[in-house]
Amino acid sequence: MSDFVESLKRGAKAIKSALGPSRYEAANIKVTCPHCQNDIFEEGSAQLNTAGASFLNLDWLNKTAKILVCTRCGLIQWFGKSLEKID
Ligand SMILES: [Zn+2]
Repeated sequence: MSDFVESLKRGAKAIKSALGPSRYEAANIKVTCPHCQNDIFEEGSAQLNTAGASFLNLDWLNKTAKILVCTRCGLIQWFGKSLEKID
C-alpha cells in the first residue's frame, strides 16, 4: 500500500515540475533576471500587435512572443524566438 502512495506522490511531483516555474535558455545562454539575478521564471506567451510588429519590421516574429516572468521580482522579459526549457 505504501508503494502505491509513493508512486502517487512521485506522479504528482512530476506533474508539478512540468507545469511549474523553470529555468530557460535562449541562444544557449541561460536566462537570468537583469533586475534581481533570479533564474526561475514562469512562462507565458503573448500575441504581438500586428500593426505594431509591421511598423517595427518584426514580421518574422510570427506574431507570437514568449514571455518569462521572474518568480522573484516579477520583471517580464520578452523573447521573439524559441526558448529552451532546462532543468
Ligand atoms: Zn527578478
